[in-house]
Amino acid sequence: MAAKRKPLSKYRRIVIKIGSALLVDRATGLRAAWLDAMCADIAGLKARGVEVLVVSSGAIALGRSVLDVPAGVLKLEESQAAAAVGQIALARAWSERLSRDGIVAGQVLLTLGDTEERRRYLNARATMNQLLKLGAVPIINENDTVATAEIRYGDNDRLAARVATMIGADLLILLSDIDGLYTAPPHIDPSARLLDTVAAITPEIEAMAGGPASELSRGGMRTKIDAGKIATTAGCAMIIASGKPVHPLAAIEAGAANSWFAPSASPVTARKTWIAGQLLPAGSLSIDLGAQAALRSGKSLLPAGVVQVTGSFSRGDTIAVTDLSGIEIARGLAGYDADEARQITGRKSGEIAAILGHAGRGPMIHRDDLVMTARDHGQETARENADA
Ligand code: GLU
Repeated sequence: MAAKRKPLSKYRRIVIKIGSALLVDRATGLRAAWLDAMCADIAGLKARGVEVLVVSSGAIALGRSVLDVPAGVLKLEESQAAAAVGQIALARAWSERLSRDGIVAGQVLLTLGDTEERRRYLNARATMNQLLKLGAVPIINENDTVATAEIRYGDNDRLAARVATMIGADLLILLSDIDGLYTAPPHIDPSARLLDTVAAITPEIEAMAGGPASELSRGGMRTKIDAGKIATTAGCAMIIASGKPVHPLAAIEAGAANSWFAPSASPVTARKTWIAGQLLPAGSLSIDLGAQAALRSGKSLLPAGVVQVTGSFSRGDTIAVTDLSGIEIARGLAGYDADEARQITGRKSGEIAAILGHAGRGPMIHRDDLVMTARDHGQETARENADA
């Protein structure tokens, strides 16, 4: 059954995860013709105003092919050595081929800590946002050469989902050799049906994906459903589609079969719900009337409007914003450590560099990281407010 045509240009920011088997052929190495077509599809999306990030697997597979490592399971240090060799070739292939379409590629290698620790998370997010602002396409992979067994994703499905939530993407596309989620394993059960739309990831849907992730099912349907949970709860839709067609994105738009997972809320609402639902704030900023008005009209909180900094917090911690009498009016993620925040309190943005000795990172709290909370604060009220 053909799926519905799915125009991709209605999305603002798309993360595309590409599985190793699409990019690398065991016998012949890089699948250059496929990559060329993929780059043309990406160029087409960008030309229509969509921002694109690529999470590209294939470092280990390509490294194996360059080093001529025989088939079989690799030890951790063998796969890390293969990744070291393969990642160079992979990044170069993306960079060269995208440049033919006039697109600049930027390599981003992430470990689990870069997406899960607040401070590193904010830095990685800032780098990717800056690349997008400059019109470049981030080419992302796990930093396999240094990630150790306990602290690695190991699969790029979940890494791609975390990247999508970090940068507020509204669509994640997982391209591999699987064209979607089936009601049962299609190679075992001939009556298995491809699900065109998944409204919510229920226990039934999880059961269709098979047992929990294991070494053998890595990158299989299980990690794709895990990725779906991460993405959809953060407000990002997900498509699982086959990357086998030569122009896989064009195929999705033309109506090739795939599974579409609905987001549970918009990315901004989901993010703000999360901020409002954080446990006790680590500190607070009291702000003047001008800043209060700015916040109510949806602007970021600038240092100039801050009157006092209370508590000890780090950049990325959730902090409260209060009026001059100490009543909470908003909550957000701190753009600065408390010490730095104290130094720039009440100062103009143009003065920050001279005071801190570095250019700073802009607002005290960025509007994307800020949620207005009720005057009679408390978590329930905050949550209701974020949902509204
Ligand atoms: N990071 C791995 C690589 O580049 C791929 C992980 C995966 O296939 O999900 O080889």
